[in-house]
Amino acid sequence: MTFRTISVLGATGSIGDSALDVIAQHPDRFSVVALTAHRQWEKLAQLCVRHRPGVAALSDPDAAHALERALAGQGLPTRVLAGEAGVIEAAALAGADTVVAAIVGAAGLKPTLAAATAGKRILLANKEALVIGGAAFMAEVAAGEATLLPIDSEHNAIFQCLPAGYGRDPAAAGVRRILLTASGGPFRTRPLAELAAVTPEQACAHPNWVMGRKISVDSATMMNKGLEIIEAHWLFGVARERIEVVVHPESVIHSLVEYVDGSVLAQLGQPDMRTPIAQALAFPDRVATGVSALELVRHGALTFAAPDHDRFPCLALAYAALGAGGTAPAVLNAANEVAVAAFLAGRIRFTDIAPACAEALARLPAVPVRTLDDALAADGEARALARAWLKLPMAA
Ligand code: NAD
Ligand code: MG
Repeated sequence: MTFRTISVLGATGSIGDSALDVIAQHPDRFSVVALTAHRQWEKLAQLCVRHRPGVAALSDPDAAHALERALAGQGLPTRVLAGEAGVIEAAALAGADTVVAAIVGAAGLKPTLAAATAGKRILLANKEALVIGGAAFMAEVAAGEATLLPIDSEHNAIFQCLPAGYGRDPAAAGVRRILLTASGGPFRTRPLAELAAVTPEQACAHPNWVMGRKISVDSATMMNKGLEIIEAHWLFGVARERIEVVVHPESVIHSLVEYVDGSVLAQLGQPDMRTPIAQALAFPDRVATGVSALELVRHGALTFAAPDHDRFPCLALAYAALGAGGTAPAVLNAANEVAVAAFLAGRIRFTDIAPACAEALARLPAVPVRTLDDALAADGEARALARAWLKLPMAA
């Protein structure tokens, strides 16, 4: 058994909650070294009291000051860091061997990269970082001798179904296809004509998973599955033609790997993120999570369907972006982040999200990503273009 010292980036979020729940159940194995968040200083203060990290960082400097005042005189070992630089410092702390990368969106890219450069064991939830960075991100992981362990449930399932020591070479491992399961989200069967009028609350009411608001909207558009196709491509070295999406509304099978001999391996479990997080935290050991047992008999039947591309145009956009390569995935992700934030703020319709992404992809031709700056430049251009197309103010 290896004792793990852990930094949790995005500690106040949904993944942060699940990770800290598992960590707190095993004080003999895990300890918290650093916690970071954006501006929720009150929640972070409570987490500092409970988990006693050496470092807490908030990217919002005012919130960091508020946290500092709240922690003063409490006798905690916690040093408070402020700004993006503070979060990056927390991601690369010498005292942590493991980093849970659970910031939402492009904001997680630089901290997650810092963890890669520092050679950490990275438990990756922040799929957007990998979608933006692509080959440059993977090169940084290799250069830093970091280890990437997926905790996105589908990718964790695939990781569990691949042979031990899998080296990102599907042919060598006899892997024919990866089958990514998708629940289909809250609008899988809603009449198409009603989609233009759905509210953020309806979009965030996922039938099986409780998640942050951005990924919940991504699940409703199935852009989440699109981003996961790109994530799977980079994590496992599998070509896009060999990554297939299967709609499976029960969310019991979290994904599958098909081998050349016809074997198909699947990982099953409750839709509870504590299972994939615990698998990666303890890997190669197993630890209890408090997740209830999967009762297959109670489910009775599991069902499967092909995705409906008219209903979910974001899926084809993701395949196209991966095919175009270079900066195209970063463009897709950036336009989507702008559109989802605008939808959540009540400024655009649900059905404006996919066209905004399509427009950005069509207008910004893919160029090769030589360094991460190329990807970040494309991210900035796509954000500006999406804001203009959606008639949003040009604010940061
Ligand atoms: P969330 O919104 O619940 O939490 C996001 C966290 O990121 C918060 O702690 C927030 O303070 C922090 N954050 C936001 N903006 C930031 C910024 N600019 N700088 C620094 N920190 C910032 O999101 P979530 O649902 O926990 O998702 C986090 C990531 O994990 C996303 O990339 C998501 O796609 C991925 N993921 C989530 C789930 C899930 O079940 N929630 C499943 C698979 C993958
Ligand atoms: Mg997922």
